[in-house]
Amino acid sequence: MGGRPVNPAAIGRVDLVGGGPGPIDLMTVRAWRLLMRADVVVMDRLGPTDVRDHLDPGVEVIDVGKLPGHHPVPQDEINAILVDRARAGRRVVRLKGGDPFVFGRGGEELTACVAAGIPVDVVPGITSAVAVPEAAGIPVTHRGVASAVHIVNGQSEMTPATLAALRDDAVTSVILMGVGALPRLVSDALRAGVPADRPIAIVERGHHTDQRTTRTTLGAVVLEAGRIGVRNPAVIVVGEVARAGMLVPDLLAAGSRSGGTSL
Ligand code: SAH
Repeated sequence: MGGRPVNPAAIGRVDLVGGGPGPIDLMTVRAWRLLMRADVVVMDRLGPTDVRDHLDPGVEVIDVGKLPGHHPVPQDEINAILVDRARAGRRVVRLKGGDPFVFGRGGEELTACVAAGIPVDVVPGITSAVAVPEAAGIPVTHRGVASAVHIVNGQSEMTPATLAALRDDAVTSVILMGVGALPRLVSDALRAGVPADRPIAIVERGHHTDQRTTRTTLGAVVLEAGRIGVRNPAVIVVGEVARAGMLVPDLLAAGSRSGGTSL
């Protein structure tokens, strides 16, 4: 545990904090304030991991994105860490990539804290579902082009609603955690009648200095992704907004990323 004095009689608290897509300056001021007065910070693999360098040496940092064997800590263990530290009177920040409630399991952590009687709050973060396409100059909605957005976990089976969204050329589908499942997603989509020429963009490591955007089509994406070695983390955008030249992609996508400014 960290070196700060703790009053064991005092009940601690947990803040489930969205950290945005990576750069520190894409965090909210509230997130930063909470981090600067935290006793314990429970970190993820994604998001603003550089925050570590700004924390007081007395702060206990627990990285649940990875164990020594590279396995992530199971969710019930994370919940137990949050509850136990707060019960010991500590101010716990659970720092998450993006937004806590967008495929972040924030709902489970909130429920665990409430069930244990721990004061808990949720701080929104900039979700990669919107911010990563944006970093490549892709608006998830665009007047006259896309009027709805469907956000999907690529590791789940495709539901009829997801297939309908993919077939609808006025809907943008944004797939998170989809790199490993790409061949399955594409064959399901093609079999369900999504046209092979539907534009796709894959944006890897959005908002980082090594961000890379690949624009292709549904029919060609698996070969292309294999050829160039697409890797996680990446956001896959399917729909007309992903078409090269739809907006001013050369201007935006070519601009180098700062990777965040230091605070
Ligand atoms: N709660 C997070 C999402 C967690 S799921 C949010 O709101 O952003 C993790 C997935 O998010 C990754 O598999 C990837 O698809 C996406 N992701 C997160 N950060 C990213 C980044 N900087 N660049 C590309 N994809 C990212």
